[in-house]
Amino acid sequence: MNRFEALVNYAKTYGFVYQGSEIYGGLSNTWDFGPLGVTLKKLIKDAWWFEFVEKDPQMVGLDSAILMHPKVWEASGHVGGFSDPLIDCKSCKTRHRADHLIAQANLGLDADGLSNEAIEKIIKDHAIKCPKCGKSDFTSIRSFNLMFKTALGVTEESAQDIYLRPETAQGIFLNFKNVQRTSRLKVPFGIAQIGKSFRNEITPGNFIFRTREFEQCEIEFFCAPGTEKEWFNTYKAKMAAFLEGLGITKDHLKFHDHPAEKLSHYSNMTTDVEYLFPWGFDELWGLASRTDFDLKQHQTYSGETLDYIDPLTNERYIPYVVEPSLGVERLFLALLNEAYEEEVIGEETRTLLKISPKLAPYQVAVFPLIKKRHQDLSDQLFASLLGTFRVTKDDAGAIGRRYRRQDAIGTPVCITIDDESLDHQTVTLRDRDTMEQVSVPINELVKTLHERFK
Ligand code: ATP
Repeated sequence: MNRFEALVNYAKTYGFVYQGSEIYGGLSNTWDFGPLGVTLKKLIKDAWWFEFVEKDPQMVGLDSAILMHPKVWEASGHVGGFSDPLIDCKSCKTRHRADHLIAQANLGLDADGLSNEAIEKIIKDHAIKCPKCGKSDFTSIRSFNLMFKTALGVTEESAQDIYLRPETAQGIFLNFKNVQRTSRLKVPFGIAQIGKSFRNEITPGNFIFRTREFEQCEIEFFCAPGTEKEWFNTYKAKMAAFLEGLGITKDHLKFHDHPAEKLSHYSNMTTDVEYLFPWGFDELWGLASRTDFDLKQHQTYSGETLDYIDPLTNERYIPYVVEPSLGVERLFLALLNEAYEEEVIGEETRTLLKISPKLAPYQVAVFPLIKKRHQDLSDQLFASLLGTFRVTKDDAGAIGRRYRRQDAIGTPVCITIDDESLDHQTVTLRDRDTMEQVSVPINELVKTLHERFK
């Protein structure tokens, strides 16, 4: 089993991520987050919200609807342009993303932003092979729109075609005026949103890396035209600091700046934060300077003015926008990959999740050494820590096994109640990473734990 397979296996075994619709044989590339997974996901989102919203007086939050007026996606360009190049192998019928075929062929060529004709030419000229069957016999490329279509309405005649949003961003643009007016904000300011997005990806895969339903943490930061570069660089630094603060090794991160000729039509600067996933560096977080494209488009399509009047200069303009857009599941996978270890100790292998106490699903586990003798005090202590820490308890099996299980799910501290606890009101505190044990008076426990988790 390679590391990636081991990681996926680990996530399923310990209740982080399950196969979606498993009892019906599964629905491919859908995933359900189990008890530990949902906690980790929430902690990731909370950490992001705390860092980018609560700590920033220029930022406010929003939760806009997933279903939006169909014209939104005409204005944003998604109806006409949000598609991937799809190509089929004539021999084995496997469907591929044509740009990915080029990337996988390791020719040093990047198909991002190229026309379908240009991509087809590269595939032919280099006789790129189907990764499944090895033949080089493909159909021509068709553009495949990634938006999920559904119908809004009770009868077929009255139903209106609408889409599940493929990004949360557009809901922010639609509310730019509402938020600016009601929050009495002056440019520069930002609007942040966390929510589900849907894309009918041609080739989902790599576990939770690319799925058709995922969550995004997005910010649209509105600034005066001409200042976008400064904000772009500010966010670049903030994003790197945030990831490193969560425990991601600096060397496992790099920026991939998009060259000018490859930029999307709406962007004058784009970079991706790439993380070293088990299969190599890949996109974790996008940062795009989107100019005034979106607000201008919505102004045109809706007929509502979406400009801003500077209260000091009386200047009227459409703000420029800088957009950092993060996939929650991608960060989840990156964090598991960073923290997951198989530590060999003599004959034994210890599974360890060396995750920051900020993100550990449980921060503390409380055990009675001997169930019959120490259970009452253990339960009392457990109850006293509930609500202050994320705490769990375990009284079944040998103490060593109980430690190992907590190591595996990343619990930084285990507390054991033994005879010393009954006689001298102390507990044994065991550290996940060093396995060191120290004795701590019960009345100093909360303070000691707070210090450890700082
Ligand atoms: P990719 O090139 O990997 O398809 P993208 O450039 O289309 O991604 P964006 O549109 O910039 O992605 O979306 C912003 C972020 O949302 C990405 O950096 C990623 O973290 C996340 N994301 C996008 N698509 C998916 C997906 N299908 N599954 C999970 N996360 C996704």
